[in-house]
Amino acid sequence: MSTLFISDLHLHESRPLITRAFFHFLHTQASKAEALYILGDFFDAWVGDDDDSELPQTVARELCSLKQKGIAIYFQHGNRDFLLGEAYAQKAGMKLLPESCVIDLYGTPTLLLHGDTLCTADKDYQQFRTMVRSSQWQQQILAQPLAARRTLAAQLREKSQSMNSMKAEDIMDVTPAEVVSQMEQTQVTRLIHGHTHRPAHHRLTVNGKPAERIVLGDWHSHGWSIRADNKRCELLSWPIE
Ligand code: MN
Repeated sequence: MSTLFISDLHLHESRPLITRAFFHFLHTQASKAEALYILGDFFDAWVGDDDDSELPQTVARELCSLKQKGIAIYFQHGNRDFLLGEAYAQKAGMKLLPESCVIDLYGTPTLLLHGDTLCTADKDYQQFRTMVRSSQWQQQILAQPLAARRTLAAQLREKSQSMNSMKAEDIMDVTPAEVVSQMEQTQVTRLIHGHTHRPAHHRLTVNGKPAERIVLGDWHSHGWSIRADNKRCELLSWPIE
C-alpha cells in the first residue's frame, strides 16, 4: 500500500494540459494508492464553493470517482485556494485538514504544511495572510456576488505576480530556523510541504535526531508527487506532454 502527496498544481482554465495531466495521475498512480493528500495551491484561485464554472465541477467529479474506488482524499489549503470550503470538499469526496497537521506515515511522524507559514522573511505576505485567513475577512468576501469575487481574485492574482517578481530570492524561500522550530514543536522527524516551487529532499537535524524535509514541486513542465510506503518516502517527477 502507498500514500501520495501533491501540491501546487495551480489548476486554472488557462492551463488545460495541467488539468489533463492531473486526471491522468488520478487514473494511474492515485488509483493504486490508499490515500491522496493535496497540500494546497491545487487551484490557482478560488472564489467560493458556489463557483459554477466548468473546471471545479469536472475536478470534483474526477476526485469523487477516485474516492468511490476506496482511496481517501485529504486537502490542505494553500495561499491561492484558502477559501475552498466544506461544501466543495464534500462534493469532491475530500476531507479538509487543518493548516498544520501531523500524520503517522507508516510509523514516521510526518508534519504536513502548505509551506507558506515557513516563509517568515516575507513580512508583507505574512501580514496579508493574517488578514485573509481571518473569518471576518472571509465572511465579508464570500458575502459579495460571484462576479465581484471573480474580479477580486483576478486582481489578487496579478498583484501576487508583480509583488513576487520584485522580491529577493531568499525571501521567497523558507526560513531554516522556522522549519526546525515547527518540526521541534510538533515532534516530527519528517516534514512534507510545497509552496516554494523548489522541489528537493533535504536532510537536517531536529531535536538531535536525523530528519528530512521533502518539498513538492509545482506542476508546470513536470508533474510532481511524493510516494510513501512502509519502506521509503520518495520525491517523483515526470514530464507533462
Ligand atoms: Mn503557495
